Amino acid sequence: MIMYHSTRGGCPPVPFDQAVLQGFAGDGGLFVPHPVPQLSRAQLEQWKSLDYVALAREVMSCYIDPEIVPKQDLERLLAASFAPFEQADPPLVSPGQDGRHWIMELFHGPTLSFKDVAMGFLIELMDYFLEKLDDRLSLILATTGDTGPAAAYAVAGKKRICCWPLYPAGMISREQELQMTTIGAGNVCPVEVQDCRNGGDDLDVVVARLFGNEQLKKRLKLSSVNSINIGRVLMQTVHYFYAYFRTVERLGDPLVFSIPAGAFGNLCGGELARLMGLPIEFICATNKNGTLHRIFADGIFEKSPLQQSLSSAIDIVIPYNFWRFLYFRCSGDTALVNKAVTEFEHFGTVQFDDILHSKLRQGVVSTSISDEQTLESIANIFEQTGYLLDPHGAVAVAGAEQCRPGFAEHTPCVSVATAHPAKFPRVIKKALPTGRSLPESAFHHSIEEAKKADTKVLICTYDELERLLVEKIDASLKHLSPGL
Ligand SMILES: *Cc1c(COP(=O)(O)O)cnc(C)c1O
Repeated sequence: MIMYHSTRGGCPPVPFDQAVLQGFAGDGGLFVPHPVPQLSRAQLEQWKSLDYVALAREVMSCYIDPEIVPKQDLERLLAASFAPFEQADPPLVSPGQDGRHWIMELFHGPTLSFKDVAMGFLIELMDYFLEKLDDRLSLILATTGDTGPAAAYAVAGKKRICCWPLYPAGMISREQELQMTTIGAGNVCPVEVQDCRNGGDDLDVVVARLFGNEQLKKRLKLSSVNSINIGRVLMQTVHYFYAYFRTVERLGDPLVFSIPAGAFGNLCGGELARLMGLPIEFICATNKNGTLHRIFADGIFEKSPLQQSLSSAIDIVIPYNFWRFLYFRCSGDTALVNKAVTEFEHFGTVQFDDILHSKLRQGVVSTSISDEQTLESIANIFEQTGYLLDPHGAVAVAGAEQCRPGFAEHTPCVSVATAHPAKFPRVIKKALPTGRSLPESAFHHSIEEAKKADTKVLICTYDELERLLVEKIDASLKHLSPGL
């Protein structure tokens, strides 16, 4: 049976359902599957022509034992999580008709970002486990954009889960905000937090503190669906397989993915797919918040001040999932991970030695894309092909253009487009020539509808946040609704 271990090695391994319900491991580490399932060539061959949902069923069966979720239940949960998608199979488009560079559109879910791909399934799973346990959960999640809407949508109407998406005031787009505040479900309570100097990272600090208090965590039934939740990372392995099968001619040939990286959960999903046996490599594309870029380029993990960028969903200076990646790259040496985490928490910086640094960068090239380059990427692709990228997809495409020379010649590349441009009309406007009206592809009917809907949101200051949350969650557990 696959068990889920803590990256810090400070608590006993747990089965899948426990790992999903707990979010963080008891020692503050992140759950990782052990051992990582290994795929045979024959298995890959069999999966080659599956559609996305069927492929997801196969991949997830490698990680979820049938004693925990029987196969027919797994199928039902997957079907439910993809039901609100416009299309479950993510399109792979090649706007320049360049047969070696594709864009994978991961934004056809209900809230138009790639977060929908894993969130729906995770919430279905949690609800399923809670029903068996006759229990409830309070989800707190700090969001710099798309996690909040995806979670709010997935949780809406679930009887056993209340959800508290927290976002830093003024740091997400109006469209993202509307997606949360117009949900209109009694069990979803969005909170706008004022004066967050470090943006989303400030919120992460509060969340980590609440989770660090075992007693409180128990009483409030806290859990998280941030990308620290292993359920999400596992589900994010599927699109790597899917894109590989759709773009590579011969099984076994290499493929590069260019990924707009924030908390690094998406790329960690890719790393798991690679460890399972998929021959893939990565371009880690950050914006000007280049913590990850410095790790790969210089071997230093150092927190730097947050800078607001045009690709706000990846404005992250502590990419939490990096600890998972480190765990995988040092072959599960939990003492090493624990030492690095402790050092980072104490000094705000860790320097990796040369051996470890070279392990980290094996098959990974990184870059940091400026706002100007992001705008240029949107403008150029639109002008040349009529295809409209969102700012995060643009970071991926700019990263691909910059870094592809670092890989073997003719290696095909898939840039991952993680959001619909309709979520970022102001950035699109800025990118396109002045005076030009937005093209039709910059709109989506669901956003237009949200603009007309009633909103519901709790507003508080950063200093008030912790107390307010505790009070409200306590109340919600008594009354079955957050009761604004
Ligand atoms: C969350 C998000 C990302 C970053 O994904 P991580 O898993 O946090 O690295 C990129 N683009 C968009 C639009 C996102 O919402």
